[in-house]
Amino acid sequence: MKGTIRLGIIGGGQLGKMLIQSAMDFNIEIHVLDGDAQAPCRPLAHHFTIGNIEGEQTVIDFGQGLDVVTVEIERISVRGLEYLQQKGIKVYPQPHALRIIQDKRLQKQFYAEYQIPTADFVLTENKEEVKKLAQKWLPAVHKIGKGGYDGKGVVVLNSEKDLEKAFDAPAVLEKKVNIAQEISVIVARGIDGQTSVFPPVASVFNPELNLVDYLIAPADISEKIVAEANELAVKIIEKLDMVGLLAVEFFLSESGDLLVNEVAPRPHNSGHHTIKACYTSQFEQHIRAICGLPLGNPTQHTPAAMINLLGEKGYEGVAHYEGMEKALQTDSVFVHLYGKAITKSGRKMGHITVLAPDKNELMQKITQLKDAIKVVAK
Ligand code: ADP
Repeated sequence: MKGTIRLGIIGGGQLGKMLIQSAMDFNIEIHVLDGDAQAPCRPLAHHFTIGNIEGEQTVIDFGQGLDVVTVEIERISVRGLEYLQQKGIKVYPQPHALRIIQDKRLQKQFYAEYQIPTADFVLTENKEEVKKLAQKWLPAVHKIGKGGYDGKGVVVLNSEKDLEKAFDAPAVLEKKVNIAQEISVIVARGIDGQTSVFPPVASVFNPELNLVDYLIAPADISEKIVAEANELAVKIIEKLDMVGLLAVEFFLSESGDLLVNEVAPRPHNSGHHTIKACYTSQFEQHIRAICGLPLGNPTQHTPAAMINLLGEKGYEGVAHYEGMEKALQTDSVFVHLYGKAITKSGRKMGHITVLAPDKNELMQKITQLKDAIKVVAK
């Protein structure tokens, strides 16, 4: 292993911040590119460049001279990354995989091509087309091809009266699934092709904000579904021919089918508990994978839950964490604040990991903590 690896991270948000915290243990020199001068990574990076991550030349200028370049967000210039790769810089995840994942339309076509189970879909170009397809497809979910994130870019079309909400842009129209559980599996793949999966986690959503409220790991699902999810996660990362981490989000339908919803080629919100609950965290695993090191042990040693600290509805301004002192009095509660100065309704401001020896105690702690902590503005 090289004494000091120069690693570039494109995107300077909370995922980058936690990646840096792990990279420090490997004596890695960190370079970060982000458009926001106040990005969470800034105080931790050795070198911080302010620039547009979607700008081809900006990405090229940033990556020149580095050993490895990675991303903590999908919306980046793939062409810039392709250029860096041609110049011999290691770019993980590889640009060809990012190009597919950036566009939900290409993602769905990829699943169809490799017989990976996913909700039935049809590609749509504009709103008029959705209206014509309504009779056959409703109830459905309409998803914009490029640029959506955290539930923005997704609308549920239950009946004809919802059709005006459809996107007037290239999108995917998907059959609405009767979801029993949403689970995700994070898989890592090294440069040598070795793969390793973290135990599945179950996400519980906040229906109002369409964001994860909390998650439980490991998910309470049968061995058969665990095996199926692991197998699909490995198949996807291999077919994408990708190095690094891939978070695979699944729907487990009420009729027992496991369907792939979407993937993210980077550390993921559903893997934050791995910092405290697994022998190797998702962040360390990503570093190991992209730096050509052996993958670590992903085994989970303690049941865990992760609660997102979302900006309270109706508050915008300098963040204040109400009830934090009380939460910290509870045993095995770990706080991660992302360092975003300003809170907004639904903004991801931090998370809390909770460990407990069994599921009952875990649920009790989650209920207490969710009531205790509020991110407000003062
Ligand atoms: P994003 O990329 O913004 O996270 P997703 O595709 O994950 O968007 O969709 C957000 C949420 O919308 C999902 O987690 C799920 O709760 C719901 N959803 C998405 N697709 C479907 C579907 N086909 N059927 C039912 N619910 C869906």
